[in-house]
Amino acid sequence: MQTLIEISNLNLYYSSVHALKNVSLSIPEKAITAFIGPSGCGKSTLLRTMNRMNDMIPGTRIEGKLTIGGTDIYSNEVDVETLRKKVGMVFQQPNPFPKSIYDNIAYGPRLHGIRNKKQLDEIVESSLRAAALWDEVKDHLKRSALSISGGQQQRLCIARALAVNPDILLMDEATSALDPISTLKIEELTQELKNRYTIVMVTHNMHQAARVSDQTAFFLNGEVVEHADTEKLFSNP
Ligand code: ADP
Ligand code: ADP
Repeated sequence: MQTLIEISNLNLYYSSVHALKNVSLSIPEKAITAFIGPSGCGKSTLLRTMNRMNDMIPGTRIEGKLTIGGTDIYSNEVDVETLRKKVGMVFQQPNPFPKSIYDNIAYGPRLHGIRNKKQLDEIVESSLRAAALWDEVKDHLKRSALSISGGQQQRLCIARALAVNPDILLMDEATSALDPISTLKIEELTQELKNRYTIVMVTHNMHQAARVSDQTAFFLNGEVVEHADTEKLFSNP
């Protein structure tokens, strides 16, 4: 598998908290990498270094290197908006905007200058299809995104992330607020998406990592203590 994200000797400090300790990790493209480990061990922090979501927090200091497709994303030339377009993110709590289903998906493309109605319609449809939500919502795209179920809202958030055509999808405990059926739907969807996207997911659920991921990185106290093919890790404890 080809590496897309290369992390070398990364240290991250939230003021005095040393949250990531000398992390080095290669993340393959078009595969699913799971981050697992106990609460507070740095999984979410490492995930957020990939779209520079945490270096905006005052007092945060980052040392080391993180490249995506060979580009050092912490170099001065990198534009964070462009980076975010390439690196979509889904959070633990579904967080659709209080707008229509259609406007949630069209939001990113509009922000990037797409105004043509037909083009937006196409993006809305293809994104909702890719997130396995089209059939359920196609007849009420003007309805508020807040009116659909939590599981549907989470798939909507995935569709919203896909609408700007990212390379990478980051999922931060994206199923832990959902019921078991919605969780399975998102797990299946994630597996379909890996043909087109590089996926990195944080989970506290070993079984989910075993079911879904190709590679697993175990975190402990700010360090990656093991990283290997999921199949090998779980068949050979
Ligand atoms: P995990 O995702 O594994 O639960 P986190 O990455 O959220 O862990 O947290 C790693 C460490 O960094 C913890 O000690 C946590 O308290 C601390 N931390 C996380 N976010 C912040 C922040 N914004 N400010 C200060 N400390 C933080
Ligand atoms: P959370 O509430 O999950 O902790 P934050 O408060 O850290 O999230 O982030 C605030 C909001 O910024 C998120 O809810 C999300 O809507 C938005 N956001 C920031 N970066 C991204 C991104 N790369 N992709 C999508 N949304 C983002």
